[in-house]
Amino acid sequence: MTCEESLVLNVLADDNQTYEAAEGTVAHSLGEGWIKSGERPDDQIGFIEVVGGFEIEITEEMIGFVEEFYDWCMEAAEGAEYWASEQYVDISRLTPIPDQGGTADFIAFRWQVMIIIDLKYGKDPVFARENKQLRVYALGVFYEWDWLYNFQTIEIRIAQPRVAGGMTTWTISREELLAFADEAKEAWARTWQPRHMLTRTPSTKGCRWCKVRATCPALYLFMAEDTDVFENYDDIDARTAIIDVVPTAVSYERMAGANETIMDDMAVSPFPALPSPPALHTLALAKLLRYQKLMENFFNAIRAELLSRAISREEELLWWKVVESRTRRKWVEDEDWIIEQMLKRFPRLKRADLFVTKMASPAEMERIIHTKAKEKISLPKIKAFLEDSGMTVKPPGQKTLAAVDDPRLPAPKDTDVFFNYDEMEEDDI
Ligand code: SF4
Repeated sequence: MTCEESLVLNVLADDNQTYEAAEGTVAHSLGEGWIKSGERPDDQIGFIEVVGGFEIEITEEMIGFVEEFYDWCMEAAEGAEYWASEQYVDISRLTPIPDQGGTADFIAFRWQVMIIIDLKYGKDPVFARENKQLRVYALGVFYEWDWLYNFQTIEIRIAQPRVAGGMTTWTISREELLAFADEAKEAWARTWQPRHMLTRTPSTKGCRWCKVRATCPALYLFMAEDTDVFENYDDIDARTAIIDVVPTAVSYERMAGANETIMDDMAVSPFPALPSPPALHTLALAKLLRYQKLMENFFNAIRAELLSRAISREEELLWWKVVESRTRRKWVEDEDWIIEQMLKRFPRLKRADLFVTKMASPAEMERIIHTKAKEKISLPKIKAFLEDSGMTVKPPGQKTLAAVDDPRLPAPKDTDVFFNYDEMEEDDI
């Protein structure tokens, strides 16, 4: 919705399946089967699914994560007049061409209330708040069912069980959803203009998912300009000016200029030399960190593109070569033969010496109890039992930085303890 030309470019680009996307596909199909059958898919543990050339094993851990999504869906289904999983939603009313749609992982509704739930199996945090994809799906549901349910409240939920604090909810009104529909219609109408009228508008979020990010001169310029702060970090005006980034379209002339710089070995790089972080102002550091994911993503895409050119087209690279990555030693597949060889060569060893047994982690133990103890007891109850009986403790996590829209509560400050102490004194007085 931010970058007009990205739609056409992404339609034309090759679809490079990633391991993470393949894993997500398997997790989604487990969730769908579970919701439709009501049966926990334990019988599929150990199965290997091949998706986009990747072999994905279904593990207890994966089922445990999907269970958090399943539980949330079942909770939403309680009291709902209609619910469905993997529901096709038509969004053609928003798009300049017909037959456009997507698949909502789970929807449930009753009179005036819609709940829409999405499973995200990746580890890159995605939150429900202001999530465009789910608002679009909610609009698809709205257009089909509003005549019957008169939706006034729309609850958007994202289940991202592999991320701490990854189960997030955002509730909006009918008016807010419809206002977003106008925004989406306008943005998508712009993507369908003649190609020469389309602009590229880089943004920290949009470019991260774009298939052409490794070769996009607009993104190259965007990152070069935003790291400009390195050069004028001691300029007070520059420090304050860098706080808000307004997405801005990049003209073709400027992109052509960037391409020339990229192609010219002798050109001066627009990326400045990097200063040491302690030399930067706090505002500059705070802003730059917002680009971390985008930059990592951009450089990963560049690495993958370069590797593919070097391997499949056998292009000679300047500064780089193709090598084999480091691997770890592993046993050959025949375990019985290994044991036999070991005991023959080292007769003082016992078979038990060749194995290590360790206690399962609390999460693994919960699933073992759930599947093997033959008691109908839910995972949350087993977890509560482990906690209440004092067998598990959760040590405080190390302090880390998160974006302000992250749903976790801010960690207490180290100095809070002194304020509490003072308050106690005052009360005593
Ligand atoms: S990388 Fe960013 S600016 Fe370039 S086409 Fe993709 S979304 Fe647009």
